[in-house]
Amino acid sequence: MYEIRGIPVPEDVIAVIRRLESSGYEAWAVGGCVRDAMLGHAPKDWDLCTSASPAQMQAVFAGEHVVETGLQHGTLTVVLHHVPYEITAYRIDGEYTDHRHPDRVLFVKDIRQDLSRRDLTINAMAWHPERGLEDPFGGEKDLDRGIIRCVGHARHRFDEDALRILRALRFSAVLGFPLDAETEEGVRTLAGTLDQVAGERIYTELGKLLCGRNAASVLSLYPDVLSAVFPDLAREVHCPWTGGGSLYDYSVRCVKHALADRKIRLALLFHALGFTDASVSEAVSVQRSAEMAERMLARLHPERELQTVVHSLILNQLLMLSADRIQLIHQLHQLGEKNLRHLIDFQEARWLTERDGEAEQVRKETDAIRKALDGLIADHVCFSLRDLAIKGRDLMNIGIPRGPEIGIVLDRLLEEVMNGTASNEKEALMNLAWTKYREYELCGTEPFENSH
Ligand code: ATP
Ligand code: MG
Repeated sequence: MYEIRGIPVPEDVIAVIRRLESSGYEAWAVGGCVRDAMLGHAPKDWDLCTSASPAQMQAVFAGEHVVETGLQHGTLTVVLHHVPYEITAYRIDGEYTDHRHPDRVLFVKDIRQDLSRRDLTINAMAWHPERGLEDPFGGEKDLDRGIIRCVGHARHRFDEDALRILRALRFSAVLGFPLDAETEEGVRTLAGTLDQVAGERIYTELGKLLCGRNAASVLSLYPDVLSAVFPDLAREVHCPWTGGGSLYDYSVRCVKHALADRKIRLALLFHALGFTDASVSEAVSVQRSAEMAERMLARLHPERELQTVVHSLILNQLLMLSADRIQLIHQLHQLGEKNLRHLIDFQEARWLTERDGEAEQVRKETDAIRKALDGLIADHVCFSLRDLAIKGRDLMNIGIPRGPEIGIVLDRLLEEVMNGTASNEKEALMNLAWTKYREYELCGTEPFENSH
């Protein structure tokens, strides 16, 4: 069994290397997997590189389960025992004229050339079972002393591809390593060019950056980077809770106090954006924040699910949370369990930010809310029509006419059950249904009183 600093290298990685080498080519494990293994973390995937051209790789793996979608960029994916391995032909990038894409890629014969196109020294190492580590740029030393450094001249490398700026900060945030002086200077000089990078690429890196253990300190050290992507974050905002500081600083402090969850952290970053005008109501500012966040997020093309959660968190930021049973049941009804749990996490981070020095008390309060919520879920409390012991069909069976009345009566019954003034039992609800129906006939479709 081969190992990199005690981390086992999968048999299939060795098998891919052997297969290519027995056909006369050279092959290595490369990039993120080597970095992670050397840090003592089991890599989530293993990438390889080879001196074989794309066509030669195809010939070597003919008959295997392969995926050819990346072939024009030199990548063939081989699936062994249901695990995909990306194998990329040694390549260098041609000229960059738009800060984002090389105009073409050139296949080369020397591993060192391939490593030289990579972004950071810690990502530019290759490993081989016999030849050991290929590390022309001092990646091992940088890993061991904890430094993020570009391969080559930082300014030049960031100028070629501005995404590397965000990647440098991503690794700094995740690993807790500072940038070396030249890399830092490059980041500061070229931060503004990030606005030219495609949203999808930004999204992947930003998501990882935001969940890094040092995300908040990286964001506060390099405000120009995030502001290049989201100029609105850099604006002066009159927000009642930023404590007189800037919106950017406040948002970053919220991120610092939040769980390492992309949805929560993005929502915190954007939730106060709409508070630009002290003369408009909080409700309007919240609405504006939600709309602005939606626009800014749309540029990154995130999953629909993430957009929905972020939107819901921002829109519901004024909702009072407490461990009060009936209030929580109504909030379950309004938001659903998943979003309510996210909202508790989101509010906890805001409270920790705004109530400086009261961390213990805040945690006590949010733990009590979570516990109360867990209790309601364990008790299977009724908080939606789906849980109600009576259905529209039952109402029609006892003579309530088909039509909007049915929905209105069901909503009123649900309200009674959620308030604890009726029990969720079919018989009792059948009797109550007639009373509710008569009330409706007498009072019409007045909006239904909601005591919470
Ligand atoms: P992760 O563990 O998050 O996948 P990674 O470093 O493997 O991190 P990938 O996006 O999978 O990131 O990229 C694989 C390798 O390709 C990197 O380790 C690096 O060597 C190289 N690379 C990725 N993006 C760039 C880039 N924009 N410029 C130069 N090299 C890059
Ligand atoms: Mg990777």
